[in-house]
This record gives sequence, C-alpha cells and structure tokens, in this order.
Amino acid sequence: MKILLVGAGLSGAVIGRELAEAGHDCRIIDARPHIAGNCHTERDPDTGVMMHVYGPHIFHTDDQGVWDYVNRFATFLPFQNRVKTTAQDRVYSLPINLLTINQFFGTTLRPDEARALIESKADTTITDPQSFEDQALRFVGPELYEAFFKGYTEKQWGCSPTQLPASILKRLPVRFNYDDNYFFHRFQGMPRDGYTAMVAAILDHPRITVDLDTPFTPQMGAAADHVFWSGPLDGYFDYRLGRLGYRTLDFERFTTQGDYQGCAVMNYGDRQVPFTRITEHKHFSPWETHEGTVCYREYARAAEPGETPYYPIRLVQEKALLEQYVDLARGTPGVTFVGRLGTYRYLDMDVTIREALETVAVFNRNSDPMPAFTVTV
Ligand SMILES: Cc1cc2nc3c(=O)[nH]c(=O)nc-3n(C[C@H](O)[C@H](O)[C@H](O)COP(=O)(O)OP(=O)(O)OC[C@H]3O[C@@H](n4cnc5c(N)ncnc54)[C@H](O)[C@@H]3O)c2cc1C
Repeated sequence: MKILLVGAGLSGAVIGRELAEAGHDCRIIDARPHIAGNCHTERDPDTGVMMHVYGPHIFHTDDQGVWDYVNRFATFLPFQNRVKTTAQDRVYSLPINLLTINQFFGTTLRPDEARALIESKADTTITDPQSFEDQALRFVGPELYEAFFKGYTEKQWGCSPTQLPASILKRLPVRFNYDDNYFFHRFQGMPRDGYTAMVAAILDHPRITVDLDTPFTPQMGAAADHVFWSGPLDGYFDYRLGRLGYRTLDFERFTTQGDYQGCAVMNYGDRQVPFTRITEHKHFSPWETHEGTVCYREYARAAEPGETPYYPIRLVQEKALLEQYVDLARGTPGVTFVGRLGTYRYLDMDVTIREALETVAVFNRNSDPMPAFTVTV
C-alpha cells in the first residue's frame, strides 16, 4: 500500500520503518526543516556541543522491547538525570530525597526519622484532596510545598496549583534515601550521536521517502491508501471547533566558557525568578569535551496559534473539546491519529515507540477499517 505519514518524529519514523519492512511504500512529510520532531538534536556550530533543541530529552524505560529497538539504531551511553533546584537562596537535590530533607530542615535524620518528620508536617485535615495544592500539602506539608512545588508549578502551568487537579501528583513525591536518580527505570541512557542520528537510522530504508519543509495538504492524503497523522489532532480539522490548549516554551540561549552550572538541569523554584529551569547541554554528553558551553533559560507560557505546542493542558475545558475532536476523527475514514500531538497526551519517548509498534501491529492484522485511534485518548 501507499502510506502517508505526517510528522517525522519518533511516531512517524517508527511506524514508517515497520510498514516499510512489511513491504509498504511510505512517504513521510514534516513541516519542519529537520527530522526527529521534538527530540531533534544538533551540534551547536560555535561550540560543538550537542543541543537538545526543543528541551532536554533523557531516554528511560522499563520496556525491554523498546530498549532493544532503540539500540538497533543508535549506540546508547549511560546517562542518569540528576536534577538540582535553586529555591529560597539555596541549592537542593531533586527529587526530594533524604539529602534534600536534611539540607532543608538542617537535620541529620535517618530514613525512619525523616519519614516521621514529613508525616508530622503533612496536613492530615485534608481527607479528600481536590487540587494539586491540597494533594501536595497532604503529602509534604507547607514548607516543602512552598519551596519545591508551588512557584515551579505556577510558572510551568501559568495558573495556581489550586486550579490543577490532584491527580497530577499521584504518589508521595519524596524518597527516604539518598537516591537522586530522577527516573526509576531499569534502562536509561543517551544516544551517543544524538536523537536525530537515531531517527535518521530508523528512516534509512529503501521504501521510505522523507520530504521536509512540507506541510500536509489534503491532496497528499487523497493520493495515499492510508494516512498516519502525528500532527495536532485539532490541526487535521483546521481547528474548526476551536484550539486545544498547549503550553509552549521559550528558550533564552546564552553561551560562556567552561562549566556554567555543573549539572545538566537546574530548576528554579521561586516564583520571582521568571524562568523554570536552566539547561546546560554539554552535560547531556559527559563523554565529550568542549571548551565553550551553551545554556537555555526556559520560560513556559500558553501557546498562541502557530507556536510550537509542547505540553497538552488537559483540564476540564480542553477535555470537552477533545471529545468533540475525537468524535470527528472517528468519523474520518482512512486516517489514524498517533503520537503526542495526534492523541493530545504527554508521552515519553519509550511510550511513543511502544504505541507506534502496537499501531503497526493493529494495521498488520488487516484491521478493516483501520481505527482512528489505537489507544484510549
Ligand atoms: C520539553 C520536553 C521535554 C521532554 N523530555 C523528555 C524526556 O526527557 N524523556 C522522554 O522520554 N520524553 C521526553 N519528552 C517527550 C518526547 O518529546 C515525545 O515523546 C516525542 O517527541 C513524541 O514524538 P512524536 O513523533 O509523537 O511527536 P513530535 O516529536 O512532536 O513529532 C510530530 C511532528 O509532526 C510534524 N507536523 C505537525 N503538523 C504537521 C503538518 N500539518 N504537516 C507536516 N508535519 C507536521 C511536526 O513538525 C513534528 O515534527 C519531552 C517532551 C517535551 C515537550
């Protein structure tokens, strides 16, 4: 079959590769001038540093199949994310762990003692937490909430934590040991030559053609037997019911010599500091040596039409609009909506790849008609 894939990010690349291997001819288009979507990496021409152009990306997964898959296309080197935060004029270790607690309260507590301290701080009068704020206060009490959650969340989401659902904070966000590895997953790493080289290897198949700087047109869709759409769900329908809300990010780039901050990611918890974090890209490739260094100050705000969508805002209002678009999509034969934009969900890279592989499995089972979604949206 002739397949059109809209978007040359991980979703489009993995689906295209699997379909090409099954004998289908795949045309992959992307409106941007590069492949790899939001995972795109490129070398900074001045310093040689490998840049995570759309923000820091760390690969982490418990999915052995996905780990094997990415290792077919890239050499992964060990990398663990160890984030720090500057709050109330001090630097702390994140996620909140025993070191953070001892630094913050000026104590030398052992795990059980720290647990007892946090339990004594937690607001047990909140029995049915409704908001993010309720949930955080119930878990950690006011001091840690103010220092590590409140300001950061306000900046990230542009609203008070009292307006965000409690479900965002599902588990107690505190570790009672000195483990400061940001992720719990078994497999963690960084592709040695960047994500774009990995996606280029995935796309390297004789049955795949890639056209960049090429926004989708309905004529392209009409020429294909089936379309996999990894662009924005509402974008496919020309936003005719309104726009699904996204947060976007502004990156303020600056360069200097040597080591600017000593770590890849430094968060800023205080509300009066306008940015959420500073990323120093050279620390994502600790096996490389560069004299210069490139950093991004990261600011979050609501995405305007035409701006890069980063994080879907799935509050009540957006969910109602989403349902209407999902109904429209279900009534549109010949198109399957995939990936983080096509299904309007935050997806880590490993989940994106797993879902892409499962989408192809549905297609290969000769699902007729192929559904609009292969996941619950
Ligand atoms: C700031 C940030 C940090 C992240 N950090 C991590 C991390 O540390 N670890 C992790 O596992 N995941 C991380 N992620 C998630 C990761 O970026 C996604 O899993 C991944 O990008 C999803 O790939 P995708 O192909 O579904 O979407 P995308 O990468 O967004 O690709 C979609 C592509 O479709 C193209 N497109 C859209 N509309 C059209 C159109 N009309 N015509 C043609 N092309 C179109 C776009 O240009 C884009 O290239 C992060 C995400 C963000 C936003």
